[in-house]
Amino acid sequence: MLQAAATAGSVQEVREITRVERIGAHSHVRGLGLDDALEARQVSQGMVGQLSARRAAGIILEMIRDGKIAGRAALIAGHPGTGKTAIAMGMAQALGTDTPFTSIAGSEIFSLEMSKTEALTQAFRRSIGVRIKEETEIIEGEVVEIQIDRPATGSGQKVGKLILKTTEMETVYDLGSKMIESLTKEKVQAGDIITIDKATGKISRLGRSFTRARDYDAMGPQTKFVQCPEGELQKRKEVVHTVTLHEVDVINSRTQGFLALFSGDTGEIKTEVREQINTKVAEWREEGKADIVPGVLFIDEVHMLDIECFSFLNRALESDLAPILIMATNRGITKIRGTNYSSPHGIPIDLLDRLLIISTSPYDEDEVKQILTIRCEEEDVEISEDALSVLTKIGQDTSLRYAIQLITAANLVSRKRKGTEVSVDDVKRVYGLFLDESRTISFLKEYQKSFMF
Ligand code: ATP
Repeated sequence: MLQAAATAGSVQEVREITRVERIGAHSHVRGLGLDDALEARQVSQGMVGQLSARRAAGIILEMIRDGKIAGRAALIAGHPGTGKTAIAMGMAQALGTDTPFTSIAGSEIFSLEMSKTEALTQAFRRSIGVRIKEETEIIEGEVVEIQIDRPATGSGQKVGKLILKTTEMETVYDLGSKMIESLTKEKVQAGDIITIDKATGKISRLGRSFTRARDYDAMGPQTKFVQCPEGELQKRKEVVHTVTLHEVDVINSRTQGFLALFSGDTGEIKTEVREQINTKVAEWREEGKADIVPGVLFIDEVHMLDIECFSFLNRALESDLAPILIMATNRGITKIRGTNYSSPHGIPIDLLDRLLIISTSPYDEDEVKQILTIRCEEEDVEISEDALSVLTKIGQDTSLRYAIQLITAANLVSRKRKGTEVSVDDVKRVYGLFLDESRTISFLKEYQKSFMF
């Protein structure tokens, strides 16, 4: 049968590994920087300006958090370097790890190993979480006695017994070596109130027994006394794991097996497997064993998708197992890939009609300066006020991204000359070494003839 719950532990580890990051282009972004009324603060959580776009993104976040809607789509459109990807990353950060967020570039879905629609289907299912609820029994009581037998010679394994009581009864539990380890770690003694998780054998010490309080006066006021649980000896506790639909697909796909999750080489998954899983998940939902958590699929450079992909998206968004789709593009009116027709952002009109469109606008001088300051902090770079002003000017005249890249290079130059902070000369030096887009164009115009055709 479906094994999602059984392997949930390992699945979560996979996600952890992909979260390990170096200082990336957007690592300074920690959220959308909104206040409780969803208004964007000028500078907050690594985000600067772009107030109305951030606010709009915040409203979409609320819809996602509510978890009630599926299949909505938004487009972030604006000039290059105006923070479209940064806003999407801010949304991912604000959602936290329990809501799936998948980020792909439009060009990624074209490969020889997998059809375009399979790649898109996988991206969709990666962005849908299944929150599986399981129950485990928790036993709570006062420790009357612990007997740990010495290991039988040669076996090395300790075993023992634990007598636990509530106000009504006493029960004897067999102790395995794992539970003994747990008892020792928690320094459990007779007179303690403890809980035992029946599924994992984990023992937690809650405090000293209230009924024995007088015997332990000597232990001082910091000792916590707990009332011995009355009546019922066993409680039920709900544990929740979140996996993605794609992970459930892979785990249950006979040809792949869950190890494919580690290699990332999942190949194509059969339609029957997916249908079976959809039915099973629907059953779990009805029985109250699972919830669906619609996450976010972010497709950057969406104009790289072709007409077939757009038609797929149109249909896929209608399913009740669809995530929130966020797309970004820096193109104006351009050809829809795979056709001779032009359309705004290279997106067919019927899909455009479904979208909530958020636009980003160019930054002013102060904003460029603030973003560069945040990036210097993120990269641990000390920079003089003058050098920062020069860098800001470069950012405005060329592009923000180019100026951000110069920070790392200028810092290296400054360190080589054993400087304590990046100076105007360091910035000038790297500006001379690395061309920006417009200088590379004029260079090419001048020396066009010397290049190969
Ligand atoms: P393109 O259209 O070229 O893909 P983009 O609009 O997606 O560009 P980003 O990649 O988000 O632009 O921005 C370029 C760099 O500037 C990134 O490092 C990004 O994190 C940073 N940045 C852009 N806008 C902001 C902002 N408002 N606050 C903080 N950092 C920003």
